Amino acid sequence: MNIVIFGPPGAGKGTQSSFLIKNFNLYQLSTGDLLREELKSGSELASQIDKLMNAGKLVSDDIINSLIEKKLGDKSIENRIIFDGFPRNIEQAKTLDQLLTKYSQSISLVLNLKVDYSVITKRISGRVSCSICKTTFNEFFDPPKLCSNIKCSTRTMVKRSDDNVETVSKRLKTYDESTLPILDYYSSKNIVKDVDAMTDIDKVSEQISSIIKDLKS
Ligand code: AMP
Repeated sequence: MNIVIFGPPGAGKGTQSSFLIKNFNLYQLSTGDLLREELKSGSELASQIDKLMNAGKLVSDDIINSLIEKKLGDKSIENRIIFDGFPRNIEQAKTLDQLLTKYSQSISLVLNLKVDYSVITKRISGRVSCSICKTTFNEFFDPPKLCSNIKCSTRTMVKRSDDNVETVSKRLKTYDESTLPILDYYSSKNIVKDVDAMTDIDKVSEQISSIIKDLKS
């Protein structure tokens, strides 16, 4: 089962993807993570990507689609992908459908994480993660504590450079203008399920779990 985890920045897509990986043997394909990996290369392309990300704008569809196609050809993750942060506009959604058809796959479910924008700024500007195991914490709501992973004793907390108040409002504007219209596209295929993402992390996971179990039964 391939799933799109959908919602504005700060909705908890990454956190809930971790839950899905552990409990449903799925693989998270996050275009944001792939781009952050690319940034480490220090290439000319990396510097263009960096500027766009810090301006809260979308990186070009060509770059994103080629990153995605490389992964879709990987048999080890066939039909168990969580698309996180992708698609981000209608063109990407259509390309994803074409690519999935090419690889004899499809999307079974779009999880629409619904959260008020009023809480997003605090969620994002407080977000930090363990440099070793990547567990996320929030300086306001869930202050960093020791991770269960023993290797993390030497960790530092890292913060994404685009997780600041100024960039968040631009990212939300981009989300409203480019990304939100995708919901209509997927609703017409009857694969969207709404999730109340304002509540505790565990309660959000429970909702997701029961949606998936219903689909499988
Ligand atoms: P995320 O980690 O999903 O919040 O993405 C961080 C930033 O990476 C976004 O604000 C965009 O600049 C860029 N990005 C991530 N995914 C995409 C995508 N599918 N299309 C275009 N830009 C993307």
